[in-house]
Amino acid sequence: MVASTHLFNEQLEQLEKQINRYQSLLSSGFKNLQFPMDIENDYRWRINAAFIKSSRGILSFGVLLYLAFGFTDYALGQAQADTLWFIRVAVSGVMLTGIVLIFNRQLIRWVVVLTTLGMIIIGLSVILFMLMLDEPYSYAYHLGMIPWQVFILIALRTYVRAIAISSLSVFLTYIFFAYSKELKPYTPEVDSLIQDLRPLYIMFWGLLISMGIYLGFYMEQSARIDYVKNRLLALDAERLTLLSEELRLLSTTDGLTGLANRRHFENTFESEWRRALRAKDSIALIMIDIDYFKNYNDHYGHQAGDQCLREVSDVFQTYAQRSGEVIARYGGEEFVVLLPRMTLAGAQRIAESLCQKIRHLNIDHAGSQEKKVTISIGVAAMIPQLDDDEELLLKEADRALYKAKANGRNQVVA
Ligand code: GH3
Ligand code: MG
Ligand code: MG
Repeated sequence: MVASTHLFNEQLEQLEKQINRYQSLLSSGFKNLQFPMDIENDYRWRINAAFIKSSRGILSFGVLLYLAFGFTDYALGQAQADTLWFIRVAVSGVMLTGIVLIFNRQLIRWVVVLTTLGMIIIGLSVILFMLMLDEPYSYAYHLGMIPWQVFILIALRTYVRAIAISSLSVFLTYIFFAYSKELKPYTPEVDSLIQDLRPLYIMFWGLLISMGIYLGFYMEQSARIDYVKNRLLALDAERLTLLSEELRLLSTTDGLTGLANRRHFENTFESEWRRALRAKDSIALIMIDIDYFKNYNDHYGHQAGDQCLREVSDVFQTYAQRSGEVIARYGGEEFVVLLPRMTLAGAQRIAESLCQKIRHLNIDHAGSQEKKVTISIGVAAMIPQLDDDEELLLKEADRALYKAKANGRNQVVA
């Protein structure tokens, strides 16, 4: 009992430390979107697991959409159509395989990195298509970057870093390659219109990315706040469970010996008595009292007396308990064993064995005739009748114990 209270306190302290930690996180503001290392790992694990669950559909949809745009390859691809279509199918194939593999729990750490990489590859493939095609057919592919960008914002919404990395890397590649590409003249009007629209297009795209990063920041921030709040709720629940468990234990056990206490015994005795009455079963009680214990205290001191009580209780504790059986400290140096569904003879056998085991502990006791600690035991059993009271059985056991004392102690009387 002493040990388990200690364990409780240690667990409780640990929990409260964690609760304080999360609470201080909650008040920190989440500005830099980064928890301390261990919490960060746990957060990522959980949010990635959620991502895997919720994003399989949308990611597959994105790849299929990309594949579906293959009709533009044949509408606009001219001589290159087959090559474009081949690249598109190959990229889609790799992506879909990747999405299936993402469900492997081993990849959970990499799921967002891999998704980001996939997004970048798709974006770059569209840029590649632009470069491969002649004007004006290539212009359609420039527009293809817009649904790609919007898809990134939707699919990676709570990962602002992934949004920023994928968007900016493709955006800058676009500016570098597509913008520096020598445009093949088409008609003077179209050519000059395109020249004028290009910076605007880039500006709008850049704006879309900034707004997306802004939004992503707040999405990730609130995801992190939710996470901390959920952790706090879970920890609070754990703490309450622990406290109620401790309370239950404290209210039913004896602090010194760890055996059940008298209240717990009385509650169980009452319900077992009623059960025995209904089932017409025999129910037995064993009353135990340590012999000359006052002398033991006087001779060795109260502390040694407590130690002796613990050692004796440990022996009682080893008695295998069936359901409904209770071994309790009834008071000072008195103990009681409740044995439902037990006959007098059976209870007597158990009592004899307990008596013998205590003798064999060989605890020195100068103030006793045996020169060692012994116990006296009274045993009683009955099949309860309707007008009986459970006090009756207690009195019977007590009377037997009194007899054992009178007969010279260190013995069982039934
Ligand atoms: P008997 O053989 O007739 O039972 O004699 P006894 O001395 O054991 O009986 P008595 O009831 O007169 O004395 C019980 C003693 O048990 C009194 C008290 O000093 C001691 N005792 C009761 N509770 C505790 C406890 O929690 N710790 C210690 N150390 N002693 C206790
Ligand atoms: Mg006593
Ligand atoms: Mg005694």
